[in-house]
Amino acid sequence: MYNLELPKKLKASANQAHQVAAQIFRPISRKYDLAEHEYPVELDTMAAMVEGLNDSGGDIGGASGGRSGSKTEIIGNANGGNMSALLNALETSWGDVGLMLSIPYQGLGNAAIAAVATDDQLERFGKVWASMAITEPSFGSDSAAVTTTAELVGDEWILNGEKIFVTAGERSTHIVVWATVDKTKGRAAIKSFVVPRDAPGLSVARLEHKLGIKASDTAVLVFDNCRIPKDNILGSAEVDVKKGFGGVMQTFDNTRPLVAAMAIGVGRAALEELRGILADAGVEVSYDIPPMSQHAAAAEFLRMEADWEAAYLLALRAAWMADNKKPNSLEASMSKAKAGRTGTDVTLKAVELAGTLGYSQHTLLEKWSRDSKILDIFEGTQQIQQLIVARRLLGKTSAELK
Ligand SMILES: Cc1cc2nc3c(=O)[nH]c(=O)nc-3n(C[C@H](O)[C@H](O)[C@H](O)COP(=O)(O)OP(=O)(O)OC[C@H]3O[C@@H](n4cnc5c(N)ncnc54)[C@H](O)[C@@H]3O)c2cc1C
Repeated sequence: MYNLELPKKLKASANQAHQVAAQIFRPISRKYDLAEHEYPVELDTMAAMVEGLNDSGGDIGGASGGRSGSKTEIIGNANGGNMSALLNALETSWGDVGLMLSIPYQGLGNAAIAAVATDDQLERFGKVWASMAITEPSFGSDSAAVTTTAELVGDEWILNGEKIFVTAGERSTHIVVWATVDKTKGRAAIKSFVVPRDAPGLSVARLEHKLGIKASDTAVLVFDNCRIPKDNILGSAEVDVKKGFGGVMQTFDNTRPLVAAMAIGVGRAALEELRGILADAGVEVSYDIPPMSQHAAAAEFLRMEADWEAAYLLALRAAWMADNKKPNSLEASMSKAKAGRTGTDVTLKAVELAGTLGYSQHTLLEKWSRDSKILDIFEGTQQIQQLIVARRLLGKTSAELK
């Protein structure tokens, strides 16, 4: 039997994240939307809180992927770190997704580390703030086209290349970088490396100006003979052509449901705001009358709410599967495709239905419609998620269906 209620323990941590979102993020949301690239000093308060919670075994912001320092023990049917991270990401994104992406120690690179690090690496990297650098000037969606190189010289890896559009790339303490250890061996040679911000040869070339999530820094990083210790490689250094791309791609199974959760959080914010505006305008949304017998705006609201619910449940399923060590690539992509699309649809439709209030800066609706678009782009676009879903359902390889 399905039980769609959240367990008490998860409710408590999601509630805590919601308080942070409501009390710290919402009041400064517009301020940092208008002050792009200005460091949100309020995050320092958050950093102290997150550090305190990490020390006591808690997790507030939401992208650590459930393994902040030690392996999560899963026995039988469990709701573990992935589920908790997902709910926290959802709640904090309800507050402000740009600020959520700037929460110290909770970068997407942390989820990547959590997904594949050894116990020893978790000891070393469990408490860092890690961003994720895959994209390069020559590619975005085709992540097998990595040209950044990593060469082992003595006890160090030497990295050379350029990474663009790195979320939290300037503020994070570490960067998880995808690089090839052997260009002649194709995708199997692509490995991920944990690069400390102060590694010699690493520099921030510039920050991007963007449509939305302006509170989040998006950096161009240059690796010029950048040196890192030999054991900063995540997973094995061995190039197994048979295993192919599996190692690094596995990180997406943890991060995609989290990005889905961000879209679901922003979508819920827009739906709540819209419901209030409709009520003020005298439009009642009823669950007892068929949508087609209600005000057109109410019918549209009910459609969006149903879509939102579907996105929410798909994301919960993907995270639950990860917690229970079930292969979830298909479900992770499904959840991100559905949530990414629903997030942009709901937030833009809310602007439309709220009329002048929606388009103006009197509410945050116009901001959310700008913020949500990226959630349907990074960590794999809408089209790429659909491609992955199609490949999995039809049993086709990436060479057969591209
Ligand atoms: C604000 C922001 C933050 C980002 N943060 C990060 C980050 O932290 N780390 C990181 O590594 N990257 C990051 N990115 C990069 C992001 O992951 C890429 O933009 C994304 O993967 C798409 O790549 P692209 O922009 O090169 O588009 P392209 O790959 O050139 O795609 C262009 C269009 O073609 C479509 N398309 C591509 N291939 C196919 C196909 N086979 N079939 C059908 N359609 C296809 C795409 O869906 C898209 O609509 C960020 C980007 C932005 C804008």
